[in-house]
Amino acid sequence: MGARILDGKALSKQVRAELAVRVDALKARGVTPGLAVILAGDDPASAVYVRHKERAAAALGVEAFTVRMGEDADAAAVQAEIDRLNADPAVHGILVQLPLPAGVSADETAALLTSVDPDKDVDGFHPVNLGRLVAGLDGFVACTPSGCMRLIAEAGVDPAGKRAVVIGRSVIVGKPMALLLLQANATVTICHSRTTDLAARVREADIVVAAVGRERMVKADWVKPGAVVIDVGMNRDAAGKLCGDVDTAAVAEVAGALTPVPGGVGPMTIAGLMTNVVRAAERRISNAAGLR
Ligand code: NDP
Repeated sequence: MGARILDGKALSKQVRAELAVRVDALKARGVTPGLAVILAGDDPASAVYVRHKERAAAALGVEAFTVRMGEDADAAAVQAEIDRLNADPAVHGILVQLPLPAGVSADETAALLTSVDPDKDVDGFHPVNLGRLVAGLDGFVACTPSGCMRLIAEAGVDPAGKRAVVIGRSVIVGKPMALLLLQANATVTICHSRTTDLAARVREADIVVAAVGRERMVKADWVKPGAVVIDVGMNRDAAGKLCGDVDTAAVAEVAGALTPVPGGVGPMTIAGLMTNVVRAAERRISNAAGLR
C-alpha cells in the first residue's frame, strides 16, 4: 500500500489564496494587517525562520515590522519593545522569535511572552490563549497544531470517534495539538519520554502526530495500516539531511496518508501564522464595532 503524501506546500498556497481575499477586504476598509517580529540575537536558524515569515507576509500584503536586536539584548530591552508594539495600533500581531539571547533566562522569557497583549498573541503561546483553548473559547491557537489539523482534514479524515496519539507534550506543539484533536472529538492519548511501550500506543492510533525531535523514530511496524501520520519533527540526520520524526519511506508502505519533511507541516505552520495575523486584524474591527 502506498500512503497518500499530504502536500503541505500546495495546501499552504491554497490557505494563502483564501487569506488574500480577506486581506483585500481589510484593506478596502482602510486596515493593513501588521505583524511585528522581535528577532533578538544572532541565532542563524531564527534568522532564516524570520525571513520566511517576512516573505510570506509580504506576499500576502501583510505589513511586517521586524525589530532586530543584538545578542547583548537583555530582558528589559526586549520588554521595552514588546510594550511599544502592544501600544502600536498598526501592529495586529506580535511574535517573539525564540530562542532569545543567552542573557535572557528561561523565567524572563516566560514573563516576556506573557507580557504580549493576548489579542496580539498570534503565536498562541500566551497563557490566556492556552486557557481559552482548554475552555473551548475563541482565541489564538498555536500555528503548528492548527496547521496539522488542516492537514488531517486534507487527508479526508474526521477525527470524531477516532483514536489519536500525539507523541510529545510541549506547550507549543504537543499539548495544543492534543486539545485540538479532543475538541474535534477524537479519543486522545498523549505520549512523552516516560511513556512505556510507545510502539503499542502508536499502533492503536488512527491518527498519529509525532512532535518529538528524534530522527525517524516512528517505525513502520508501529503504525496501524491506513493511519494518518503527521510528522512535525525537524531533525538533521548524520548526513546533514533534513528529516522528521517518522521513518517516512517505510511508514509510507503502511500508512493511509503521511506528511513529508520538508514540505509537510513546516509550510502549514507559516500559513497558520498568517491566518492568525489576518484574524487579529479582523477581530480588532469587530471589537471596535462591538460585534464580538
Ligand atoms: P520539545 O523538545 O519541547 O518536546 C519534545 C517532546 O518529545 C517532549 O514532550 C518529550 O517528552 C518528548 N520525547 C522526547 N523523547 C521522547 C521519546 N524517546 N519518546 C517519546 N517522547 C519523547 O519539542 P517541540 O515540541 O518544540 O518540537 C518537537 C519537534 O517538532 C522538533 O523536532 C521541532 O524542531 C519540531 N517543530 C517543527 C515545527 C514545524 O513548523 N515543522 C514547529 C515546531 C516544532 P518529555 O516532555 O517527557 O520530555
